[in-house]
Amino acid sequence: MSEAFQVTRALFDEVMVPNYAPSAVIPVRGLGSRLWDQQDREYIDFAGGIAVNCLGHCHPALVNALTEQAHKLWHLSNVMTNEPALRLAKKLVDATFAEKVYFANSGAEANEGALKLARRWALDKFGPDKQDIISFGKSFHGRTFFTVTVGGQAAYSDGFGPKPGAVFHAEYNNLDSLKALISDNTCAVIMEPIQGEGGIIPATAEFIKGVRELCDAHNALLIFDEVQTGVGRSGKLYAYMHYNVVPDILTSAKSLGGGFPIGAMLTTTAIAAHLKVGTHGSTYGGNPLACAVAEAALDTINQPEVLAAVSQKEELFRQELERINAKYQVFSAIRGQGMLLGAALNDSYKGRARDFMLAAAEAGLLVLMAGYDVVRFAPSLVIPDADIVAGMQLFEKAVATIATAK
Ligand SMILES: *Cc1c(COP(=O)(O)O)cnc(C)c1O
Repeated sequence: MSEAFQVTRALFDEVMVPNYAPSAVIPVRGLGSRLWDQQDREYIDFAGGIAVNCLGHCHPALVNALTEQAHKLWHLSNVMTNEPALRLAKKLVDATFAEKVYFANSGAEANEGALKLARRWALDKFGPDKQDIISFGKSFHGRTFFTVTVGGQAAYSDGFGPKPGAVFHAEYNNLDSLKALISDNTCAVIMEPIQGEGGIIPATAEFIKGVRELCDAHNALLIFDEVQTGVGRSGKLYAYMHYNVVPDILTSAKSLGGGFPIGAMLTTTAIAAHLKVGTHGSTYGGNPLACAVAEAALDTINQPEVLAAVSQKEELFRQELERINAKYQVFSAIRGQGMLLGAALNDSYKGRARDFMLAAAEAGLLVLMAGYDVVRFAPSLVIPDADIVAGMQLFEKAVATIATAK
């Protein structure tokens, strides 16, 4: 295909709504943990499409699942069910606490479903006073108006008129602040086991246990937003499996589709019963193409040796980051779990995560930020150790340009 115009980064500013500020790099193909741009320059990918490309780029299992399904059946709508959706749901149920699954197309939609379910459950069982939803400061739950209101960053939810009501925010990792807000009118508490967008901040085990106990004491549902931490990223299939704590509702997206858009809300039969026929829905949710790819991703990742390797790769990542830090003293802490890690910049480099991200890209490495003070890494869960070492050499180069130019 030849166009009468050039596809450049400048075209973005010409024809796209300006809500993003994408990098100057336009990748055109990928394989494993490598990407190539329009000029055929190679990059090592520690960004993973923001914790989405759990099997890297063009993994054969996903390419096969997608092409096989593409020759069979793409879309039906919810008037009919389909085999890939039922197989994926069965596998998610078998692998988790859940007994029922609802499919959506994104993390925000999975959370929207979870929050609406919690409200409906509370209304049916306890009446209209039980409607409070509590989340935590700095949390991120998506960009629909309900999820952005529940999220803990007013900057994302202000400026769009009246917000959905009865939403409150406690301080993360601070049980007393939750205690002060929670009551018998609370219908749900929603939390990320590791805050991703908020700066790669893991909840302490005591906090997670305490939140569960407070929810139980007040008959409130506990919703775990595992959109970023789920599907092997933490080294277990879901992060809740590291703790002896089970949520009532869990949401999954990002890595679930390995790059194909899909979201899921998982819950128990008793709670699910409150989303009766007609109460909620989505045209594409549970689409056969999406579910076929997600099934292949889940089959590939939910293997003991694959999950164990994620924790080994975390060790290698940490060793390399500590080595770089010993030389240049730029980080105050390395946080996170599995292949979701954050290098928090120390006081001398506060606010400069973007500079590190740009210097890394300049050196041929793609990394992410999580706020202005944290460099975030969310690579493929099966990234070869050699690519980790090679990528860290590029990262060291990038760090050196900033640390010596200080
Ligand atoms: C990315 C993310 C979302 C939103 O997912 P989308 O697919 O962008 O709608 C929700 N919650 C968490 C924890 C996330 O990291």
